[in-house]
Amino acid sequence: QYRSRSAFKLLEVDDCYRRFLRAPDVRAVVDLGAAPGGWSQVVAGFMGAYKATPGPDDGRWGLGLNAPGEHWSEDAKDINVGAEGRGVVIAVDRLRIAPIPGVHTLQADFLAPETAPMVEAIIRAKANRDGKADVILSDMAANATGNRTHDTQDSLDICHAVWDFTRKHLRTAQSIGRKSGGVLLLKHFEHPELQQFRKFYLAPNFHTVLYIKPDSSRSASREGYWLCFGFKG
Ligand code: SAM
Repeated sequence: QYRSRSAFKLLEVDDCYRRFLRAPDVRAVVDLGAAPGGWSQVVAGFMGAYKATPGPDDGRWGLGLNAPGEHWSEDAKDINVGAEGRGVVIAVDRLRIAPIPGVHTLQADFLAPETAPMVEAIIRAKANRDGKADVILSDMAANATGNRTHDTQDSLDICHAVWDFTRKHLRTAQSIGRKSGGVLLLKHFEHPELQQFRKFYLAPNFHTVLYIKPDSSRSASREGYWLCFGFKG
């Protein structure tokens, strides 16, 4: 079973938008802010390394989910232990992520300058020799303080760090043997300053930038996602 209800958001987004995670040429996916690991489970599943099974519904989540970190099982009945899949998911979080087959976990602060080179080294070693990711996902969010200025700044800092990594490490159509540029899914808080970020950084560098709010995202929350296709580089 999935470790977080966020997994359902990602399934929904992938289902509605071109099934970009299931493309056969997706070999390196970077999952930022990945703990407890729901998104990574979904992606590793698409890559053939992990098979989630429906878990007992304890009623708390109403989705057949357990609370994060509880009850999920890694015995051979539930997952394809040892299955290689066709690529690698690199899951980064400040928090520890319990192992998931097909997922390389890295416990690090993504805003720290030494983290991005570590992620690049893993991509080179495990998937794409040119160090390029096919898909970058960021569900990172700082703890909300309720202070709008502060929360907006936190979200901007995260978006800038993800953009800095993206511009260096997301594949373009010119990357070895590729016909289309890579995909970025980026969580952010809704605010005019974030709209400026979209306008200046994302819109000119991708063919398509969509704003999405998955149905499974609480409607009152100010979080939304940008889904960006066709990185131009
Ligand atoms: N997508 C995840 C899943 O499916 O299980 C849930 C992610 S949760 C909403 C957001 C995560 O972002 C938290 O685990 C938090 O620790 C992480 N995070 C926030 N800021 C971070 C940073 N600077 N570096 C690394 N992780 C960060």
